Amino acid sequence: MKKFFYTILTISIILTSQLRADEGMWIPLLIEKFNIEDMKAKGFKLSAEDIYSINQACIKDAIVIFGRGCTGELVSDQGLIFTNHHCGYRQIQQHSSIENDYLTNGFWAMSKEEELPNPDLSVTFLERIEDVTEKVLNGIKKKHTEKERNEIISQNIEKIEVEAVGGTNLAAIVKPFYYGNQYFLFIYKKFNDIRLVGAPPSAIGKFGGDTDNWSWPRHTGDFSVFRIYADQDNNPAEYSPDNVPYKPKQYLPISIKGVNEGDFTWVLGYPGGTTQYITSDAIKLIKEIRNPSRVLIRDKRLEIMNKYMEENDTIRIKYASKNYRVSNSWKRWKGEIIGLERLNAIKRKIELEKEFNAWAKDKKEYKDVLQELEIIYQANKEYVIAYDHFREAIRTIEILDYSWEFSKLIRMAKGTELDDSWVSEIERLKKETESFFKDYEEKIDHEIFKELLPIYFSNVDEKFHPNIEGLNVNYTEYINSLYSKTIFTEKEEILDIIDRGSKEEIKKLAGDPIYAFYNKFYKTYNAEIYPVYDSLNKETIKHYRAYMKGLMEMQNDKILFPDANFTMRVSYGEVKGSYPRDGIMYKYYTTLDGVIEKDNPNIYDYDVPDKLKELYQNKDYGKYEVDGTVPLCFLATNHTTGGNSGSPVLDAEGNLIGLNFDRMWEGIMSDMIFDPEHSRNITLDIRYVLFIIDKFAGATHLIEEMKIIE
Ligand code: ASP
Repeated sequence: MKKFFYTILTISIILTSQLRADEGMWIPLLIEKFNIEDMKAKGFKLSAEDIYSINQACIKDAIVIFGRGCTGELVSDQGLIFTNHHCGYRQIQQHSSIENDYLTNGFWAMSKEEELPNPDLSVTFLERIEDVTEKVLNGIKKKHTEKERNEIISQNIEKIEVEAVGGTNLAAIVKPFYYGNQYFLFIYKKFNDIRLVGAPPSAIGKFGGDTDNWSWPRHTGDFSVFRIYADQDNNPAEYSPDNVPYKPKQYLPISIKGVNEGDFTWVLGYPGGTTQYITSDAIKLIKEIRNPSRVLIRDKRLEIMNKYMEENDTIRIKYASKNYRVSNSWKRWKGEIIGLERLNAIKRKIELEKEFNAWAKDKKEYKDVLQELEIIYQANKEYVIAYDHFREAIRTIEILDYSWEFSKLIRMAKGTELDDSWVSEIERLKKETESFFKDYEEKIDHEIFKELLPIYFSNVDEKFHPNIEGLNVNYTEYINSLYSKTIFTEKEEILDIIDRGSKEEIKKLAGDPIYAFYNKFYKTYNAEIYPVYDSLNKETIKHYRAYMKGLMEMQNDKILFPDANFTMRVSYGEVKGSYPRDGIMYKYYTTLDGVIEKDNPNIYDYDVPDKLKELYQNKDYGKYEVDGTVPLCFLATNHTTGGNSGSPVLDAEGNLIGLNFDRMWEGIMSDMIFDPEHSRNITLDIRYVLFIIDKFAGATHLIEEMKIIE
């Protein structure tokens, strides 16, 4: 292990100038060691300490994990945060109704009193990072099996986490890097009183909808504004009207000086997950099996959702957030297939693997590793198919999933599980039931069920078919009978049962046709599919750990960055357009003019709000105007992924110049292979954000809170 670190350290000293341009998501703690020279050579004006420090306030103190899967950043000394519209979408949707349709009309709190609390939303600050590899691997010997190794690691991790934060209001989490060749500890502070301050209408914040998602040229004003509240001592607290705006250690100044092609830019945020080092077999599985089948299933779901959403406004509001969650990955998966094909990804990986095998042939530790992985992928194929189909085609049937919420209570009623949490389980189910029915439309679910069930049975190996009485190829009839007999579609009846809390009655729910059907499926999944799928996956980790270590030794003229794992990372690159295809050139920026070009009152996603058209007609752009219009989005070469949504895009001096929100279609496979020609992150220009807040919404009090550099 020591040798491994020594290798890394040596490489860092000799080779910082040879890093591959723009690819990489780097650990803030190691910027000084691995990246700062390269960053400075490319135009960065600050020091590594300015980004990450435990001795002084620094830029990392202005960055938060927003909710569970996005990034946000502080932009005022009163706890104001920016993130993407699609990151705050669920909250905006939850506050919306036909009377107060914030999705369509936007929402702006004109004073702090009007800001809206969000019970399930939190933001999390990173306090510090520590390399704990030695502590985590303490006690591990060569003779240990993988299982023993994992047990020791888990115990060590638990100890480290408890020691790090015991008796404080902080949280600690240790995460593996490079497939467990290295471990880092992250200390976090979480705030739970987060209020919605502002959101533009969807026709700005989600402008272009699915059609424009993941693509360029882009005109989406993808931002929303929230505020962190703390107790009187500036500490995290649950929601209370007495809470006050949080005073951050650091917030970001905003530069409206503008961006030019070639400018240095960087992103500090929480990329969710990448798999840069997977083998050709893994890519083949994704490209040829996983993505195509998941896309097909989601095609059906989206088709049905869209049909009803277009017909009816209440349904549109109910399903807006669900629909977005389905369509976002659906489109990305499609793009990945095309990108992997164009890049000849499988062939490229095979070439690397040949090189590796030649290098490793006399090295005991590495020589069989690729073959081992190949065997596992082969063995796992049918399990992967079954796993994906269960999760995409069965578990997504809303009524099934909802009925399963009752499984714990049913077990308690039957006396097979301790019932000391009976009361809290009853309370949880009441809430769950209210929130389920708030956004449920039976006819959509029913129709989707009828489409998806046959797909499971025709694509998944027979040995994973649950034996369900009465189910034959006439799926429609069978599903109709489930819906006609179940009680789970009846909100009031269900609430009455929960209220009465009679164990006899609750036990009977297990016989409900919907519950019984899902129970059968779930049992098959739990017994036949998941355990093998999971253990084979875990098995791959062991071999990837060796492969990764071997790759680092073999390619010792490079620094390989660790895959993203939803920990804070720095990506850096430059503002740059692209030549996506023969005869097409993508300019690096778009403007408000493009919004007007795309205006189409007949399509919800392109129906430009009148107020915006008025501002356009009057050229009422204030200080955000450039060449008679307002800049909107720009492209850059920063390596980002999901989770980076809402991340600040910064200039060389650390000023906020935009919000990262997407990637360009032609380079979308960058989670697996980054293509310098086509992989681009898409940033919402901060001038458009301010223009909308200031001129469109008239929320000038927010602008006054910010530090704007002109
Ligand atoms: N738009 C993306 C997302 O929602 C962000 C990205 O992957 O670049 O996940």
